[in-house]
Amino acid sequence: MPKKYHIHPKAAPLDLDYVFKFKIVRGENCINCGKCTKVCIYEAHKRRKDDPRRMADPNTVVCRNCFRCIQECPRGALEKSLDKDFAGIGGAFWKPDMLISLWKQAEDGKVPVSGAGYRGPFTGTGFDSMWTDMSEIVRPTRDGIHGREYISTSVDLGRRLNHLVFDADGRLASKVPDTVDLPIPILFDMPVESLSANVKEALVKAAAEIGTCVIMPAADITPEFGEYSDNIIPCLAATEIDRHKAVLKKARLVAIEYGDAVLNDYAGLKEKIKKLSHALIIIRIPAGKGVEDIIAKLAHSGAEIVHIVADYCGREIHVAAGSEPRLLKDIIRAVHTRLVDDRIRDEVTLIASGGIAMAEHVPKAMLCGADLMAIDIPLMIALGARLYEKPEKQLIFHEGLGRIPIPMVTQRMVNLMGAWHSQILEVMGAMGIREARRLRGESGRAIFFEEVDKDTFGKLFKKNREAVSK
Ligand code: SF4
Ligand code: SF4
Repeated sequence: MPKKYHIHPKAAPLDLDYVFKFKIVRGENCINCGKCTKVCIYEAHKRRKDDPRRMADPNTVVCRNCFRCIQECPRGALEKSLDKDFAGIGGAFWKPDMLISLWKQAEDGKVPVSGAGYRGPFTGTGFDSMWTDMSEIVRPTRDGIHGREYISTSVDLGRRLNHLVFDADGRLASKVPDTVDLPIPILFDMPVESLSANVKEALVKAAAEIGTCVIMPAADITPEFGEYSDNIIPCLAATEIDRHKAVLKKARLVAIEYGDAVLNDYAGLKEKIKKLSHALIIIRIPAGKGVEDIIAKLAHSGAEIVHIVADYCGREIHVAAGSEPRLLKDIIRAVHTRLVDDRIRDEVTLIASGGIAMAEHVPKAMLCGADLMAIDIPLMIALGARLYEKPEKQLIFHEGLGRIPIPMVTQRMVNLMGAWHSQILEVMGAMGIREARRLRGESGRAIFFEEVDKDTFGKLFKKNREAVSK
């Protein structure tokens, strides 16, 4: 039996200036009795290392809001207070709770559990307006995620054959296309912001450790990354191929920025790259208007992998003034449906990115029709970065991040992916799906708010509207 895929999380605490909804504060009337160290099972309360007679500041990062320490402190010395900075971080899409969840997952690779029940709205926008059918959660097959049965999160990149052809002697006559197999349906994407050298190196090392790849501008791939060439996808414009020959030769995958020239002569581009390298080609396309037509045309021309890139909140880009941007969920569905209608869905791999903020977004996007996802901002938030949506997108890194040792930065990204992998397994187990490949386009196993709303209330309000207009 093949070795089970597993991501190894390890505690990787950083002394960062996190912003949480509530802060635990220890008052001056604390008598250092240490009772709180015993009642908090999450070890938020510890004694100072340099002077064990005194208590250290509470570690809000690991606090799960159970309030036990507050109730049991004999002096009433502990209190939880609202952090005024909390409301300012994130925005309408990147909600503050998401950032906190990502920070926590990066600390130890565990899935945060609040224990306080869900008190948010029933639905939202984008992936928050869809739910997965978890009917298998109550059935014995769910034991799969706990070890009895293997659930595979592997996916392939590359063209697949619809059928095999054999010659008269029973030998395989079809040419089986090359594919690249990844153990997790997630690629790393470089955020556009400039990164310090240690973060860049950690991204590559984290990708290698979990067996995935990082998409990196070809110009940034220096010789010291040579041993990681299997895990780096050079990204470049079609006009830069000659300049980056050496990098392309070693690559398994190469990402080419979309342009009219690519659409008009995909065969020529492929020929040019094939002369230099065996790398499979990813065409990286902004998620703009008519992206489904462009992708269909590329697929008919022989494109094997396309990457749809939405904005950082998962919205369509280059939208005309006054128009509502489509959301990534709907863009993926439109592209997938178009390829199914054209009977070429299996011939192209769809990567999608933009606004993937939580582990559950990965299986949801796959149910909409993506084969795998690429992420960037969550990896930066794992390093303690703060994101602000207003007045404009701003990603603020913790001061001194450039000096943090590479193994620590790497481990935080590995931890985040470990937590996401566990959550993807939970979703798949609850859905009774044993292979991540089978999630693709299974929209019948998802419930879309807009469709339920229309089915349930659409006719009723239509009648009311008609009555009003009479
Ligand atoms: S239980 Fe209260 S008094 Fe005792 S160490 Fe903790 S905060 Fe201080
Ligand atoms: S509220 Fe609960 S989880 Fe948080 S520090 Fe106190 S005992 Fe620990």
